[in-house]
Amino acid sequence: MAPMQEHSEVVCEVCRAQLGKIARARQLTDLELSILNQPKREININIPLRMDDGSVRIFPSYRVQYNDSRGPFKGGIRFHPNVKRDEVKELAFLMALKCSLTGIPFGGGKGGVKVDPKQLSERELQRLSRAYIREYADFIGPFKDIPAPDVNTNPKIIGWMLDEYEKIKGVKAPAVITGKPLALGGSEGRLYSTSLGGAIVLREYLKTIGKNGKDVTVAIQGFGNVGSHLAKILHDWGFKIVAVSDSHGGVYNPKGIDTKKILDEAWSGKKLHQAVSHGKAITNEELLELDVEVLVPAAVENVINSINMKKIRARVILEMANGPLTVEADEHLEKNGTMVLPDILANSGGVVVSYFEWVQNLSGHYWSEEEVNAKLEHYMVEAFRETEAERKTEGDSYRRAAYVLAVKRILQAEEDRGNVVRKNGAGK
Ligand code: NAD
Repeated sequence: MAPMQEHSEVVCEVCRAQLGKIARARQLTDLELSILNQPKREININIPLRMDDGSVRIFPSYRVQYNDSRGPFKGGIRFHPNVKRDEVKELAFLMALKCSLTGIPFGGGKGGVKVDPKQLSERELQRLSRAYIREYADFIGPFKDIPAPDVNTNPKIIGWMLDEYEKIKGVKAPAVITGKPLALGGSEGRLYSTSLGGAIVLREYLKTIGKNGKDVTVAIQGFGNVGSHLAKILHDWGFKIVAVSDSHGGVYNPKGIDTKKILDEAWSGKKLHQAVSHGKAITNEELLELDVEVLVPAAVENVINSINMKKIRARVILEMANGPLTVEADEHLEKNGTMVLPDILANSGGVVVSYFEWVQNLSGHYWSEEEVNAKLEHYMVEAFRETEAERKTEGDSYRRAAYVLAVKRILQAEEDRGNVVRKNGAGK
């Protein structure tokens, strides 16, 4: 793992830096910038929780509703001991950008509880999940703010949350939250939608340089939900997965890893650094510095930073984690000609299928896995092509092009609502 002390508090300093650049280049007004720079609403509630031993503990919690000019706020709820208001705010901003870039009719939001869920019993976890919804019930709703799972929250927790909301409101309202179990109105395909979306973006990019995936070498850092499903999809499409790692380290084989076998092992609980029959054991730092065509950070933020940026040899970086590059690393790699496919594009497949889940809940008509994947394909290809067109027009990086598009659409919605008046086509 690359050293992460640098900027580890800031989830997305790249987001703020990009916004600053766009504001200067597009002459955004102070009002436009302040709409983009700060959330519409931040809620902070200290939740009292009765523990199994009869004591009561207080857990700080947050919901940040960033922007809703394009539709209801949308974003996950994370349970983590390091959850902080500023982090939730940054993640809410990222969600607003992703929804805008992919053209789905949502704004951005995010929630969190400062708790280590591993320290709670199952009953305490359920009580906390329900308590969160009780506290925020008046702030969320199918046309207001739609939460979803995030770090350490999963379909089971989302099922409890839905149940609590419906009890409070006295109606069935599956569209209030996404990432539900299938039996409660979840969508087919959601489990691997983020990975499939990223794979489509990579495939579309490679087409622009006259390549298909055949034998293109890939190294993936992070082998959780996103990294492992991405490995499976890319392998099925003919890519050559040469290295994978989890938080303990990984394995490298220049001839290609037996992806099906390592997935079976990982999904049955084996740590990757123990899977040495697949190749040479490597550290997370070593994985990032491998000479591969495509590097995929799919674990945590800021892993490529000033300390290791000069050692990165990959030609393409597919950002599946949120904010895996620091600003300095991003600028260095851009100058160096490394093609970075940015997080707000690469990992937006999950929120697109969350949107499909909401649509299915509202219509009461449910789609097959094939239908969901075909619709996801359409949205991701469209988002890539629009970003590519913007990039070509302006001679920009993919990141800047993606930000320009996302910001432009949010400001258009603000303008159409009469909230801002743009002079001289600023922001267009
Ligand atoms: P996960 O918890 O399922 O998996 C995370 C993986 O990263 C694990 O293999 C873990 O061992 C590894 N890891 C953790 N800390 C690490 C470290 N310090 N160094 C190297 N590896 C480490 O999470 P996930 O759902 O796969 O999400 C991965 C990333 O993708 C996160 O940044 C997340 O915010 C982002 N993301 C996920 C989704 C989604 O739909 N799950 C959507 C958008 C973005």
